[in-house]
Amino acid sequence: MLLNSYKIARVLPCLADPEKIRVIAEISDEIHEVFPYLNAVLKGCIYNHPALTLTIKKDGKLLTLHFQHITLAKIEDEKEAEEILKWLRDLINETYENRDKIEPNYSKGAELKALDIFRLLPGTNCRKCGELTCLAFAVKLVGQEIGITSCIPLFSEEFKEKRKVLLELLHDAGFEVPAGSFDSEEG
Ligand code: SF4
Repeated sequence: MLLNSYKIARVLPCLADPEKIRVIAEISDEIHEVFPYLNAVLKGCIYNHPALTLTIKKDGKLLTLHFQHITLAKIEDEKEAEEILKWLRDLINETYENRDKIEPNYSKGAELKALDIFRLLPGTNCRKCGELTCLAFAVKLVGQEIGITSCIPLFSEEFKEKRKVLLELLHDAGFEVPAGSFDSEEG
């Protein structure tokens, strides 16, 4: 067994849908060894090998596995979060047990690179996001350590065009984006 237990550590508002929640769960074990095998058996994952993250899209939810914690986005309530975490634990353990029969997939799917994001940021290095530079912010964003809404200047009228393109890129790559920020059925 790779993952023994998990515990919900934080419940936050969801960036993508204000009516839903974002849940961060602490896990008892490091799970990154299973990521290329999950990437092989599940469709449409976003695998970021250097950052050790794997994002799974399931029923409109975004489930991001980090090597020491799990983030769930677009979740209805804690009960649903518990159900998804149990599903994930079983999936992780079953896939890990069968890994000898699975060809690992190291492809990155729709992964965005920090430079792709950086080019669409305001580029002023104003530090309002708490980072020293826009590039540092882009690197953290790719690693899902910070949300796009932390770049407050991006949401001003001045950067409307860049914002639209960037939010679409992020959305298509499976990142959380603020609801209603561009024309999309999923928001
Ligand atoms: S808030 Fe935005 S514009 Fe300012 S440094 Fe951060 S990423 Fe760059």
